[in-house]
Amino acid sequence: MDIQSLIPLMYLVASVLFIFGLKKMGHPRTAVQGNLLGALGMLLAIGAALFDVNMQALAAGFGVDRTHYVLIAIGIVVGSVIGAVMAQRVQMTAMPQMVALFNGLGGAASVLVAGGAMAQDATPTITELVATAASAIIGAVTFWGSLVAYGKLQELTWFKRPYPVPAGQLVNALLALLTLAASAWLVAENSLPAYIVTALLASVLGVLLVNPIGGADMPVVIALLNSYSGLAASATGFAIENNVLIISGALVGASGIILTQLMCRAMNRSLTHVLFGVMDAGGASASTDEVYATVRSTTPDDVAMILDGAQRVVIVPGYGLAVAQAQHAVRTLQRVLEDRGCTVEYAIHPVAGRMPGHMNVLLAEADVPYEQLKEMDEINPTMSNVDVAIVIGANDVVNPVARTDPKSPIAGMPIIDVDKAKTVIVLKRSLSPGFAGIPNPLFAAPNTLMLFADGQKGVLELNAAIREASK
Ligand code: NDP
Repeated sequence: MDIQSLIPLMYLVASVLFIFGLKKMGHPRTAVQGNLLGALGMLLAIGAALFDVNMQALAAGFGVDRTHYVLIAIGIVVGSVIGAVMAQRVQMTAMPQMVALFNGLGGAASVLVAGGAMAQDATPTITELVATAASAIIGAVTFWGSLVAYGKLQELTWFKRPYPVPAGQLVNALLALLTLAASAWLVAENSLPAYIVTALLASVLGVLLVNPIGGADMPVVIALLNSYSGLAASATGFAIENNVLIISGALVGASGIILTQLMCRAMNRSLTHVLFGVMDAGGASASTDEVYATVRSTTPDDVAMILDGAQRVVIVPGYGLAVAQAQHAVRTLQRVLEDRGCTVEYAIHPVAGRMPGHMNVLLAEADVPYEQLKEMDEINPTMSNVDVAIVIGANDVVNPVARTDPKSPIAGMPIIDVDKAKTVIVLKRSLSPGFAGIPNPLFAAPNTLMLFADGQKGVLELNAAIREASK
């Protein structure tokens, strides 16, 4: 049988594998299987593309022929090794940065492939030209936007505060118009210089669009850039007439948009606000000294005594729990408290940590039962019945300023209302701020006690103190 007649079938099977992979990723229990299905689909798609005459014709335009299979194989091996090493080495807390880089590289690949295809196709159709322009714009915005997002997530000094751009929105609007004009030139003239100008203008736009975004809006931006990388790939699929690229790009684009919408809803934001609302770079108006004037610290022994009389305890995990890798110690704390007849629940904020579902994954690793993880909306109305809320390595997601200061970078973001619990214990190393870089008045509230320690060490000491107290 002619291998060419099998190619569309292989593309179809790959696409079906992507769809089932995505479906399985919807639940932590099946996520690993979903990932494997997706990877298998990708392997099949790459294999099919290597034998696809259309792709070979495209490659021949670059002077790549069958004898270059060795080069391609080397590329695949080098890429796979880099990917495998990165996946093994990356800390869970650095996953969002890695995802940002992946999104960016997807965008860059789309720009290069679409541009390359244009350079060697003398008679492109209008659809291909429009798709090429879309690849240039969306791909370049994705690449540069993702690099800025990477800098912010990595908390690199250069990206800690947005660079002030006078009349930023006007500049962005003008840039967007210029980019569209350049892409119209590209389509009208099938001009490679127009392609380059379009991609350059879109690159500046990508940087400027993500520059002012921060605080509670970062998770939304990552999801959006993820969606863009899919849309860019899909557009490139149209430009080079490759169905599996169109389908896989559309799947990434659609799932990214759904995630963006979910994050917007969870953060009480509109997408327009995220994209065009300017972050207040100055943060909260009160000084740190003022906010923290009445902070009281405590010890594991004192907390053990407080917990002695508690009937209902809620644990609120945050980014610091992931940094400290305290999930197993926390699971033990839960068991120790339950053994004493106490009810223990976990309050999960949708953007706690540094990626959607971060806390769920972390706690699942320590075998915390799913039923004990309560969504923010479910637990908040009952917070005043909680005897002790133990906040471990969380900061922004429990910061009441979100409710009270409209100028704060987390203004309007729903928080876990731990301040309404009878007693709040906050376990962290210092009074340092969280991702949004603002002080947290919860730490100085009359019902709050600060237990200053590394997340894991603090919980282990607390477990020992509780056991000692109950002897
Ligand atoms: P935060 O970033 O607000 O705070 C984390 C706290 O953890 C810090 O104040 C730090 O204080 C403490 N910490 C760090 N290391 C340790 C340690 N070893 N032991 C104990 N504590 C530690 O985290 P939250 O989870 O509350 O909020 C998440 C923030 O990240 C939000 O602003 C959100 O918008 C943003 N974000 C979320 C994303 C997502 O998808 N989930 C993606 C991108 C950004 P100290 O140094 O004093 O110990």
